[in-house]
Order: sequence, then C-alpha cells, then structure tokens
Amino acid sequence: MSITRQQVLDAIKRGRAERLREGMEYVRFRENHGKIMRGTVVTRDRVILGYEHIPRIFTLEKGLGRNIPGGEVCIEEKIDGFNLRVAKVEGAIFAFSRGGYIDAFSTEKARGLGLEGFFADYPERILCGEMIGNTPYTSPTPKFDVKLFVFDIDDGTGNYLPCEERYAMLKKYGIESVPQLGKYATSDIKKIRNLALSLNKANKEGMVIKTLDRKAAVKFVTPNADIEDIGRCSPVMFDMPLGFYVQRVFRSGMFLREFGLDRREYARRLGEAFYSGLLRGIGMVGDGGGAEEEFEILIKDPRTWDTIHRHMSKEVKLEVISDRDEKGGKRIRFSKTYRKTTKKMHDALTGKSVTD
Ligand code: ATP
Repeated sequence: MSITRQQVLDAIKRGRAERLREGMEYVRFRENHGKIMRGTVVTRDRVILGYEHIPRIFTLEKGLGRNIPGGEVCIEEKIDGFNLRVAKVEGAIFAFSRGGYIDAFSTEKARGLGLEGFFADYPERILCGEMIGNTPYTSPTPKFDVKLFVFDIDDGTGNYLPCEERYAMLKKYGIESVPQLGKYATSDIKKIRNLALSLNKANKEGMVIKTLDRKAAVKFVTPNADIEDIGRCSPVMFDMPLGFYVQRVFRSGMFLREFGLDRREYARRLGEAFYSGLLRGIGMVGDGGGAEEEFEILIKDPRTWDTIHRHMSKEVKLEVISDRDEKGGKRIRFSKTYRKTTKKMHDALTGKSVTD
C-alpha cells in the first residue's frame, strides 16, 4: 500500500495525523484515515504501516470454522506484553509503539538486541513483536531484562511473510521468535482444544492461529489469563477502559462453557482475583498513598528516562523509588499513581457522598 503526500497533508488538516520531532521528524496517524490505519508512520523516506488488528474468536471450534479457511495452520503463543514495530529508518533502528510514536525506551533496547545483521540484509523489512520484562509498561522480573518476541515480519509494504519463512529467517539471524506451538490441521480440532487447555493450565495468555501464508489470523485467550488481568488491574479499576471487565468476564464464561470447566472453581478464582486486587487498591489509598503500580527499568542513556517521564506524566503520576548506577547503565524503580482511581477511593474513604 502506498501513501501519497496529499493523503498525509489531508490527514494532518483533519487532525487525524500529526507531525512529530522526537528522535527524528515523522508523521504519525493518530486515527484511521481512509484505508490508512492508526499507528501508521511516515518518515522522510519510508512508510511503516500500522500493525493489523487480529480478530478475536470467543469459541475455538466455531470461531475457527468461520474465520480460518480449512487446511493447515501455524499456532503460536500469544505473548502478553506491548506491541512494537522495529524498523531501520535513516540509517538507525527505531521501535514504534502501536499508536505510531517512537518509543525511546524500546528503541534503546532494540538497538541492543543484535538486529543489525537482519536489517543490513533486509533494510525495508519491519519486525513486529511483543516486548516484555523490565519495561515502563510491563511487570518487572528478576529473570531477565527485556525480551522482544517477534511474531510477524512485514516485507515493507504491509504484507506479512508466510509463517515458516519467518521462523526460518528469525532462526538464521538469531532473533527471538514468539513461541511456536506447531503446525495443525484445522480438522484436528481435538488437538487444538487440548492445546488451549494446556495453555490455560500453564497460565499463558492464549494463542494466535495463523494460516501458513499468513493471510488470515485469529486470537483466542484463556480464562486464567482473563482472571489474572482482572486481579492485576482491579487496584486501579477506575483508570481501566470502559468494557475492560465485561469483555474479560464474557470471554472467560464462553471458554468455561465450551470446555466444560468447573464453574464453582472459576467463580471462586474470579471473585478472589477481583476482591484481592480491589482491596489492595483501597488499602494503598487508605494507608495514605495512591493507587499505584511499580515498574523497573535499566537504561543506558539518561535522556531515555526524561522522555518516558515526559510522555507518561500526562496520564499518571511518576515517582522514582530508587535509582542506582550499575554495569549495564542506570536502574530505576518507579511507581505510577493512577489519578482517577486514587481520587475516587480517597473520596469514598473520607466519607464523600455521591448521588447515583
Ligand atoms: P488489537 O491488536 O486488535 O489492537 P489489542 O492491542 O487489544 O488488540 P490484543 O487483543 O492483546 O491486543 O491482541 C493482539 C495483539 O497481540 C497483537 O497486536 C500483538 O501485539 C500481540 N501478540 C502477542 N503474541 C502474538 C502472536 N503470536 N502473533 C500476533 N500477535 C501477537
């Protein structure tokens, strides 16, 4: 897909795209504009299209039948981190967020992942992946710093490479792939069902099912991941998007029915996750703090922290908990205080009345 100069100017005029000057000069599509997706980036010499939405199915068997042509599919683990497109622009590697911003933190990390060989051979290609670990957006871990799991390679024009070609390419260049769960015939629904159950047992987020040519894909998530999300987000519940809980309760209910799982057991788990999270939030505010989450990052360039701070302070209050120099750079532990939830909980705890 090509984008004309006129389309870019038109989108800017209508407020659907904006010019930015951070890291380099570029235009970011903040909304869809005709066929141009939100998150698309236009630089001086190239276009990086937004990563396509993957349709969600709510029942494995019927959902597969209706959305994926019969035949063989590649099934991959769905990793729960944040989406990035990593590309070479004007001679340097940059990581772009889902919304099309240059993400300073992820750019610094992507430059340390040994991707130069790949981009030297394929400068026009774009690595689409999920980052997890000690990042400003995901739960910290002592096990590793960050990981980028690549789940698609855009050939530079918005076409994704066929799955097996991608696996081979990532292997050749020593780039981490999203876990590959194997090749299945869509008719072998029993095996695919067992896979879904084992992902649920292992507390994995779910699976993405892709046709071999990567022209079609669907995502299917597990109830344990839905319940974990609910528990993790309940301390800051008023800052979650509308529909967050409804979506997850519905999805998990559909899974329980399709797989005949123990309703009482899941009712207990859901209630436990929801109330524990909520009471943790109320407890934090009741003790005089804010409804907050902690993060930890290791950065080389101190300017990266300034950029993170500038971007995130619009939505949440950031506070540094500790900050120390170590071999790989500066390790910063910080908290994000969610303003809306803190205020609501504080008001309620201090006796404020509300007329419903
Ligand atoms: P959307 O992608 O529709 O905007 P979303 O941002 O809410 O939805 P999810 O519903 O979590 O995201 O699911 C889609 C996302 O899952 C992809 O955009 C990608 O970032 C991520 N993902 C994780 N693992 C994979 C995988 N194996 N293949 C494709 N995408 C994956």
